[in-house]
Amino acid sequence: MNTTSAWTLKAQGQPIIIAGPCSAETEEQVLATAHQLQDTGINVFRAGIWKPRTRPGSFEGVGTLGLAWLQRVQQETGMRVATEVANTGHVEQCLQHGIDVLWVGARTTANPFAVQEIADALKGTAIPVLVKNPVNPDVNLWLGAIERLEKAGIKQVGAIHRGISPLGKSVYRNSPEWNMPMTLKELRPDVLLINDPSHIAGNRQLLAGIAETALALRMDGLMIETHIRPEAAWSDADQQITPQALQEMLAKLSGHSLTA
Ligand code: PEP
Ligand code: MN
Repeated sequence: MNTTSAWTLKAQGQPIIIAGPCSAETEEQVLATAHQLQDTGINVFRAGIWKPRTRPGSFEGVGTLGLAWLQRVQQETGMRVATEVANTGHVEQCLQHGIDVLWVGARTTANPFAVQEIADALKGTAIPVLVKNPVNPDVNLWLGAIERLEKAGIKQVGAIHRGISPLGKSVYRNSPEWNMPMTLKELRPDVLLINDPSHIAGNRQLLAGIAETALALRMDGLMIETHIRPEAAWSDADQQITPQALQEMLAKLSGHSLTA
């Protein structure tokens, strides 16, 4: 088990950028996306391998097989790698394979039993964990998940703001409800806070505006879904952008000293 990690995930004046596909689909897609993201100032490469789909019948991830692909990303690009965990088995597999950062998805954050199991499985490790806000507008549930991980001894626990499921029609896939991350920031200014414009927007057009707002609100970074062929993605095709489009978007985000 990987119990020591000298590496620290924290804001160092510059926004932290986490990028990579919604899902790892094939080894070729993961490696090609990672190589295009390499040298663009990306701090962490993301790819989901266990996918929490809202309804059955859609692509549910490549599973454990994808861990070896993420290891290749580490070796070939030097980027840190992150994936989502939703249960003890996922955590154990990730620790065995030297994954650098874990995140807890929005559906899992809403379940304290699942979060506690993840926290217990992480005891004694030094891996950074990012907690997405729950799908419902409950800041305390979000904070509670963060606290469960902290109580398990995890030193680097961060938060990801990904919006909440709207009831009925909305321009957003998930309504940003900016007061939610701002309340968390007020309660816990010490917790790293990252914005996920991809899952808030649900489409490519709204991404930049959401990212701009997040940085204007002094969030610490962005997680943006990036794919070599976004329109052919096996999940979240409408909201992913190419590594080149990501670079152009980051360059245009004004006044936030982004070098990527
Ligand atoms: C994801 O990041 O791909 C994901 C499934 O996100 P969320 O938990 O925010 O829906
Ligand atoms: Mn996604």
